[in-house]
Amino acid sequence: MNHPISSYLQPNNLGAWGTYLEQVDRVTPYLGSLSKWVETLKRPKRALIVDVPIELDNGAIAHFEGYRVHHNLARGPGKGGIRFHQDVTLSEVMALSAWMSIKTAVVNVPFGGAKGGVRVNPKTLSHAELERMTRRFTSEINMMIGPQKDIPAPDVNTNGQIMAWMMDTYSVNQGHTSTGVVTGKPISLGGSLGRGDATGRGVFVIANEAYTLINGDISQARVAIQGLGNVGGEAARLFDQAGAKVVAVQDHSASLYNPNGFNVPQLLKHVAIAREIKGFEGEAISNESFWSTPCDILVPAALESQVTKVNAQKIQARLVVEGANGPTTPEADDVLRDRGVIVVPDVIANAGGVTVSYFEWVQDFSSFFWTEAEINARLDKIMIDAFKSVVEVAKTHNVSYRTATFIVGCERILSAREMRGLYP
Ligand code: GLU
Repeated sequence: MNHPISSYLQPNNLGAWGTYLEQVDRVTPYLGSLSKWVETLKRPKRALIVDVPIELDNGAIAHFEGYRVHHNLARGPGKGGIRFHQDVTLSEVMALSAWMSIKTAVVNVPFGGAKGGVRVNPKTLSHAELERMTRRFTSEINMMIGPQKDIPAPDVNTNGQIMAWMMDTYSVNQGHTSTGVVTGKPISLGGSLGRGDATGRGVFVIANEAYTLINGDISQARVAIQGLGNVGGEAARLFDQAGAKVVAVQDHSASLYNPNGFNVPQLLKHVAIAREIKGFEGEAISNESFWSTPCDILVPAALESQVTKVNAQKIQARLVVEGANGPTTPEADDVLRDRGVIVVPDVIANAGGVTVSYFEWVQDFSSFFWTEAEINARLDKIMIDAFKSVVEVAKTHNVSYRTATFIVGCERILSAREMRGLYP
């Protein structure tokens, strides 16, 4: 399973990359003369595959396969997270890097799209092994990253500690401290206030806007959330704070239902200790029934391709807000559209993280740090303004929010591409 060959591109099974290509095909008819450049979006600019060998605590040598992909750099340096997961593949990282290109363009922060990952289950590594693996991976992708070139950040199973090791490794190799090479760092190393909660906060802010547009009142909403990690957990906390009821949750360990609404602070405490929802009070339901639980808002905040054409038939929510990257397949998008379910896509709904990453990068360059209130106010404004533009475009072209968001993002990327011109 861990053999490299299994992770290279398989033409018949493109997975998340196939989803992304289909999304680009759907937006192309709306790009006017810029569609001449659309092929640019269907190829990553460059992709690096690296071997990451480390010595395990027992003296054995283990090899992991890692990737860093630059999808498009027309609008600025690459930006995007690093994922440690046993199912990471090159094609998945390509898709995630492409969604970063669109996302950074939609919120109009001056970055291109990038992403990285290592095919490893980090839970099987000791703390020391995880550090060695992170440092060796960072050295192997050294040629790709830098504060002006490509700035990694946390993603699935990576966090501030891992960013600190990456920053340190890069700085040691450069011979000087370079805080701006990664974002999502601990505050003591040039991190930004509000970065940890930013993705979940953005999801909540956008859900609130979108729900209000369909005459919903967030304080009366019933919410189902898949994934209670950094994104789903913070979103759950904010929904709860706003008076909404979190009635269903799912993660790798269980699916739980409570029609009266979970005690969210207690649930998050449980997850912080147990690292899973299993064992928390609530009706245990099957994984399939999670999708049909009565609710108003559904937030997939785990991995790609979770909402399929099969479970999309059963979704009761009026609104789906994508906390994860790529959680909905194109076929499921069609089913949801036909059933009148509104989908706010990942490339705007979860853009809060990269927006505050941009603030962090700016603060590192100026060595001048903002208050959390300033960060949150700027974040909310950027997210709400971006969503309003998407809503306008969706009305003008009579298209889904996904297509509208792609119109906004692709137009920005491709006009930059066109203005820069081809070299030579
Ligand atoms: N991993 C996050 C995302 O998918 C954040 C990336 C970043 O901050 O660069 O948007």
